[in-house]
Amino acid sequence: MKIKSAELLITAGRPDQYPEEGKFEVAFAGRSNVGKSSLINSLINRKSLARTSGQPGKTQTINFYEINKEIRIVDLPGYGYARVSKTSREKWAKMIEAYFKVRKSLVEVILLVDIRHEPGEHDKMMYDWIKSCGFNGIIIATKADKISRGNWLKHINIIANKLGVENKEFIIPYSASKHTNRDKVWETINELVEI
Ligand code: GDP
Repeated sequence: MKIKSAELLITAGRPDQYPEEGKFEVAFAGRSNVGKSSLINSLINRKSLARTSGQPGKTQTINFYEINKEIRIVDLPGYGYARVSKTSREKWAKMIEAYFKVRKSLVEVILLVDIRHEPGEHDKMMYDWIKSCGFNGIIIATKADKISRGNWLKHINIIANKLGVENKEFIIPYSASKHTNRDKVWETINELVEI
């Protein structure tokens, strides 16, 4: 997709701070450090519009980006960072739950997992949550440049088995450093928002 404009609309902590409903949005979830900011920057062709905080797991906000004034990409706060207090984890869960529940414009939550590793228990919980909310359950397997293409399928199978993904087509390998499968992800997003 040709990116004509990309802007950070708002960094929201509470539902009353979300931008007005009306434009379809696709959200990205994943463990801290999975490569979410890199993926968003790669998708929107910007070096550093999406940023990670210096301290992983500390960003407790939902960031809304608007692309070409028509689609919104939503960066959900990362999870799974070990040194996060119980209070922060509860705050995180409340924030995500509120967003999933109230947001009418939200058409899909795409889960990011590192292609190299079997997903962990937090990923499994997140995926089950996403599916139970009625989303398709599309997954992006990040950092795909770190393993050879010949090994992609083996790793996709491991991810599919752990998370219980029926359709392996739903798992898209992605490299933010090489922009591998950028068009495929945009095609998927466009299909989702055209429903
Ligand atoms: P976030 O915490 O999920 O937003 O993760 P970041 O986007 O900050 O990425 C975490 C680390 O992984 C950084 O050092 C990135 O440079 C690296 N990274 C992210 N995506 C890729 C990728 O596709 N390929 C490679 N080789 N490294 C990546």
